[in-house]
Amino acid sequence: MQDKLIQIRDDAQNELKRAASDAQLEQIRVKYLGRKGLLTGILRQMANVSPEERPVIGQLANQIKQQINNELSQRQQQLKTQADKGDKLDVTLPGRRIKIGKRHPITQIIKEISDIFLNLGFQIAQGPEVEWEYYNFEALNIPADHPARDMHDTFYITDNILLRTHTSPVQIRVMEKISPPIRIIAPGKAYRCDADLTHTPMFHQIEGLLVDEHTNFAQLKGILEIFIHRMFGEKTSLRFRPSFFPFTEPSAEIDIACVMCSGKGCRVCSHTGWLEILGAGMVDPAVFENVGYDPEKYVGFAFGMGIERIAMLKYGIDDIRLFFENDIRFLNQF
Ligand SMILES: [Zn+2]
Repeated sequence: MQDKLIQIRDDAQNELKRAASDAQLEQIRVKYLGRKGLLTGILRQMANVSPEERPVIGQLANQIKQQINNELSQRQQQLKTQADKGDKLDVTLPGRRIKIGKRHPITQIIKEISDIFLNLGFQIAQGPEVEWEYYNFEALNIPADHPARDMHDTFYITDNILLRTHTSPVQIRVMEKISPPIRIIAPGKAYRCDADLTHTPMFHQIEGLLVDEHTNFAQLKGILEIFIHRMFGEKTSLRFRPSFFPFTEPSAEIDIACVMCSGKGCRVCSHTGWLEILGAGMVDPAVFENVGYDPEKYVGFAFGMGIERIAMLKYGIDDIRLFFENDIRFLNQF
């Protein structure tokens, strides 16, 4: 009987060492100390033990019971400490989200503008950012001594190669390649040596060109009106002001009612109630001559706008540089 008790103790100790969870510890407790447990079973047999042996066996059984109990609570404590130290899993913590990339706000605006014109039957055209001086200036009716050149703070690479100062050279490249009818928009980067709250050395423009045998200023007006209403809302009022560009005649600048104050006058619109948003006009016959089109046969109109300016007005951003600092807190808002 003594041997049996010792065996039970050794088995219990081994199992306790291997136990890795509270549930396993409880199983061990029930197996040895429970009402139908092994040790309890032995104690029930005490009646069969001779009166001389009884106190010895009883004492040993009680000792072992005590021992198993102690080791059980020790092991429990051990497991708890381990859990606190490391491998703890807090199921109440929120999961880690996978960060999903987004389109840059400028890219979003380019897409939005492009979609409007694609719906009107325009196609997208592209040209090089490193451009011949000829395409950037001469072909667009801006000869070397033209005062308009002073307004383009140009980055020259060599005497006759530069970073394009506008997307207009794409017009020339398209017209050189294909005959009318032409209906294109050219979104892209342009460069000028200029930097402040509303200018960055690199910026984006969208250029539009339509050439056909029969078109007129009224169609230009209609297309721009559709564009502005889709971009800024049906109720946006707009006005055409006479202006000058070397490559269009007549030329106009188009204003929309200030998006900040709805035309009442505020700091953003310099208290005029209007914001200049794009330039446009009928293609100058001199430009057609440069690309070999017959100016007697063809008429066309062109328009151009700064993407950053449109994004700033649409989102109410007052510093253009925010677009290019790549601060994730700013970019995440779009
Ligand atoms: Zn205003």
